[in-house]
Amino acid sequence: QDAIEQRHTEAAEELVPDNLKLYIGGEWVDSASGETFETRDPTTGEVLGEAQAGNSEDIDRAVETAWDAYDETWSDYSAAERQRVLAQLGNYVEENAEDLARLETLDNGKPISEARVDMQLVADHYHYFAAAARTHEGRTIPSDETSQIETVREPYGVVGQIIPWNFPLLMSAWKLGPALAAGNCSVLKPAEETPLTVLKFLEGVDDILPDGVVNLVTGFGREAGEPLSQHPDIRKIAFTGSTEVGRSIMANAAENIHDITLELGGKSPVVVFPDADIETAVDVMVTSIYHNTGECCSAGSRLFVHSDVKDEFLEGLSAAAEDLVIDDPLLDETTLGPKVTDEQVQRTMEYIQEAQDADAEFVTGGGAPDDEALADGNFVAPTLIDDIDHDNPAVQEEIFGPVLESFEWDDYDEMMEQANDVDYGLAAGVITSDLGKAYDTAKDLEAGNVWINQYNDFPAGMPFGGYKESGIGREIGFEAVEHYTQTKTISIAH
Ligand code: NAD
Repeated sequence: QDAIEQRHTEAAEELVPDNLKLYIGGEWVDSASGETFETRDPTTGEVLGEAQAGNSEDIDRAVETAWDAYDETWSDYSAAERQRVLAQLGNYVEENAEDLARLETLDNGKPISEARVDMQLVADHYHYFAAAARTHEGRTIPSDETSQIETVREPYGVVGQIIPWNFPLLMSAWKLGPALAAGNCSVLKPAEETPLTVLKFLEGVDDILPDGVVNLVTGFGREAGEPLSQHPDIRKIAFTGSTEVGRSIMANAAENIHDITLELGGKSPVVVFPDADIETAVDVMVTSIYHNTGECCSAGSRLFVHSDVKDEFLEGLSAAAEDLVIDDPLLDETTLGPKVTDEQVQRTMEYIQEAQDADAEFVTGGGAPDDEALADGNFVAPTLIDDIDHDNPAVQEEIFGPVLESFEWDDYDEMMEQANDVDYGLAAGVITSDLGKAYDTAKDLEAGNVWINQYNDFPAGMPFGGYKESGIGREIGFEAVEHYTQTKTISIAH
């Protein structure tokens, strides 16, 4: 415990930025609220820093400043100039990846090995969107007798963006990359649990970004997020987080007829066929549910395994879950870190309790890991539950923790009906050695993304988003840039 605390104190002294203010118009400013909030280290419970608790006045100021920057500077930038800015953002992240990764681990609790992968992805996304700034084109429509028609993709101007705490810097890149590539300015609100890496990033790229193109208002959902989503002068709102908040953001967007992108929760199924290579299937399943401590919207949290291989598979999976290294996330060898906050632990434990009350079988896990050294952290052991009804809340609702429910199947149609029998439709997985079967299954699954013989792979070019209550629109990939533009059609007489 002492060793962990010392390691974290030293890392915090080295990495937490001194300046935890709002970033508006290229200036670091205090919130009009006069208030701050603490952000804590999920491994030790210690306070890492105090960020500004932004409010509606700050949002007003940020939106106005963003419009000034759009009108006076950013809208004059050519696509080539925007490309150069975005490429420099990518270079900055590459050059500072280790510090950013360690800070992300301090603030969020994810294992450092996973934070390093996140930072590579952040850099790669900026490079991808740098290229997209130059390659995003309109169309020429075959002419009729009266006119030739062209479409031009134009930016909205100023967009609002609200992000969650599970991939703090990566989610900011998912939002800023396509918005800036398309020519928009942004007002970004990070999650109150994890403001640090995006603050450090903006401090580092202050010389690269023209003033006011990106404005950051830290703070709580109600005080800072809601006024952003209600602001009449933004032209689009993009949100990643819970379905419940997504609903209220959509209602606000409806009030102002704003465009919207929502990336919400999931309860994604993974289907294992009897011909699957069991070792591969176990690896894929571990990635799907235990990666990032299960704090992934895409997490494959319902397993549908064929009865022919169920026993062998669950045995392999529970052994792999028990082999995960639960320890200080700053250590290279750690593969499962703490959850982001106490509240998130409680939330996970409530679902575990629902399963226990229903006499489900816990193949492994079901509580905190048995390690005194980790007592101060928000740790939950990797959990695998069998023999549970499909209508149990633990199965129907998003737990957002390292908790998997397993179902056995024999009849494909019955299995598919159950796999699709949730309100969500974000992602799904199929594990089989028969690619034809995999394609057919992918088509039957109600999900925006289906991974075959892999899971949670997020290259920058891959459009990502949900069916049903998992969201609207797509992020990353070419579609994301499309979603940050509006079409102007120009008809020319001839
Ligand atoms: P949340 O949806 O409350 O928070 C996400 C972001 O929205 C944060 O920046 C928050 O400040 C902001 N926000 C909160 N209320 C708002 C409001 N009324 N108006 C505008 N913005 C608001 O998520 P949470 O409370 O941090 O987590 C709750 C659950 O949501 C999790 O357990 C998980 O199931 C789900 N979740 C999903 C994702 C995802 O990636 N899809 C990410 C985080 C959480």
